Amino acid sequence: MFKKILIANRGEIACRVIATARKLGIKTVAVYSDADAQARHVKLADEAFRLGPPAPRESYLRSEAILAIARQTGAEAIHPGYGFLSENEEFAEACAAAGVVFIGPPASAIAAMGSKSAAKTLMEGAAVPLVPGYHGDNQDAAFLQQEADRMGYPVLIKASAGGGGKGMKIVEHSADFAAQLASAQREARASFGDDKVLIEKYLTKPRHIEIQVFADTQGEAVYLFERDCSVQRRHQKVLEEAPAPGMTDALRAEMGNAAVNAAKAIGYVGAGTVEFIFDTLTGAFYFMEMNTRLQVEHPVTEMITGQDLVEWQLRVASGEPLPLRQHELRIHGHAFEARVYAEDPARDFLPQIGRLAHLSQPTASNHVRVDTGVESGDEISPFYDPMIAKLIVWDESRERALDRLNHALADYEVVGLPTNLAFLSQLASHPAFAACELDTGFIARHHAQLIPPTPAVDSDTLALAALAELAQVEAANLARRQHSSDAASPWWEADGWRLNQDNRHALHFRHGEQEYAVIAHYRDAGYLLEIGADKLEASGQLHGQRLQANLDGRRLQATVVRQAGKLTVVRAGSNTELEPFNPLLVGLQAAESGGGLSAPMPGTVVVVHVQAGEQVEKGTPLMILEAMKMEHTILAPHAGVVQAVFFQKGEQVKEGAALLEIAAE
Ligand code: ADP
Repeated sequence: MFKKILIANRGEIACRVIATARKLGIKTVAVYSDADAQARHVKLADEAFRLGPPAPRESYLRSEAILAIARQTGAEAIHPGYGFLSENEEFAEACAAAGVVFIGPPASAIAAMGSKSAAKTLMEGAAVPLVPGYHGDNQDAAFLQQEADRMGYPVLIKASAGGGGKGMKIVEHSADFAAQLASAQREARASFGDDKVLIEKYLTKPRHIEIQVFADTQGEAVYLFERDCSVQRRHQKVLEEAPAPGMTDALRAEMGNAAVNAAKAIGYVGAGTVEFIFDTLTGAFYFMEMNTRLQVEHPVTEMITGQDLVEWQLRVASGEPLPLRQHELRIHGHAFEARVYAEDPARDFLPQIGRLAHLSQPTASNHVRVDTGVESGDEISPFYDPMIAKLIVWDESRERALDRLNHALADYEVVGLPTNLAFLSQLASHPAFAACELDTGFIARHHAQLIPPTPAVDSDTLALAALAELAQVEAANLARRQHSSDAASPWWEADGWRLNQDNRHALHFRHGEQEYAVIAHYRDAGYLLEIGADKLEASGQLHGQRLQANLDGRRLQATVVRQAGKLTVVRAGSNTELEPFNPLLVGLQAAESGGGLSAPMPGTVVVVHVQAGEQVEKGTPLMILEAMKMEHTILAPHAGVVQAVFFQKGEQVKEGAALLEIAAE
């Protein structure tokens, strides 16, 4: 076994690999960009080396620099994690040439699966079933359109070099094909430097079921069963589980053997995943692609098999045989993984950046595991994946595991930037999810319930916010009184709320567009709070950010985080952001918001569809922005005439920048 390894990655996966290395007594070397100098993976490793500025190209993708660090530190092997250099055949080759073990498959296997098109051709030869489509070399737009027309709509355009849903477009009608092809090619070129695409028949009700495979250098290969990753947004996984609900032993063996055959066909070594798309309408399954690395969702497999897949990777890479044979592998219980992302579900899951002002995670146990690379106070930056953590739960049955998931989600607290936590809770508690009504359209189908319009703030939450405000004012008054030379001065009393027994004080909060008032009347043991028509006897103590309150005899707990002039009340996994304001100043602050359209996030303008003077309908595409390698189309919010276009193709825009102006009719 290795004595020292280098981890060429960051975030939760770097921390995850370090944990197993430590368990096996292997020393670890971390690498980091300037954005990650204080990151958790850097603190956990035995040694850490700077790679460069935050952009991946200048840091985590610098293969030569990484190899130089491996040589300098005497690391015998490099774990690439996922993303970055994990599926880069040149890097795997460079490692071999430098005498450093690449913890992954041989470069030839990465190459074989690197292009979705070439992989399909190879699998066709190995008699693995494929989705009907075109995956050849002819990239002529008219020819591709012809192929799409022939297979019938809807079709899916995919970047051959693709991954992460980039360069993937569904086309519903022949008339839209050309524009979608151009967009897919642009995204593919921006993300992968290669605009080759393939076309597939788009299945309307599929499940994503993938098989975990493992192969060793002795030519043995096994499958560690399946994961169901059907719950997706933007064609990307958000909730995964193992085993797949409804999977029969016969189908499992059939898919498992197909996956092992796929691995054997390319001389595979190490951990790999063969992704299949399963047609719920016909029961057929088709090969989609093989990922030649450890997957984000590998923990659910670990939970149901009781195996440590990173340990398997390290053993196999050091030349040991697979720890277990196929007949020794068993499924025990059920596991879920929920990916906690900094993203805004209400705005098409747009990635968000910002500081984790407050982070409190569920307690780890035999049933609950949190894989994360961040700590309270860390930044989610625009440079990397906006995943905050993976929450993994296990129990004897799916039903009990789902219960665990719901409880753990309710214990998860993140304040400082929008996250998908409330959305995950809605998903995990949705009756259709409990009933295993799974397919990749799940989120779209239940969108209205999963992303409900922001509800009015309830009286309890307003009372908790008011108690936190009042506690802070009282504490400030007390401190001032204690520091005053004239502590007995009645002015300090007068400055507070206690001038007389029925002193009343109005607190005002803004939540989105909505404004709320809480009238607090001072009482001996607390306050009487008037909130609309409600009257609540309220008292509470604030310890740091924890508020223990009593409302009309009910005991309530919440976390209240203050930052940037806002209060966030966190209760049972749901956040309510309230902005205290002074109504007397409102007139001065009123924001101007004419017909301007603003950028939902920082990015680059890639297409401008309209010009000043043009008449547009509601929903007309106006501009396409690219951010984090994804394209976002800005649509006209209403019919009208374009008054001005403030940015041109190629220009950078800041979040909130006005892009265009439309005068309503
Ligand atoms: P990427 O590598 O970019 O993530 P994949 O090829 O793995 O892309 O596909 C991602 C997801 O897109 C799949 O999990 C599935 O939900 C959906 N998808 C892919 N191919 C098809 C298809 N032919 N029909 C319907 N959905 C598909």
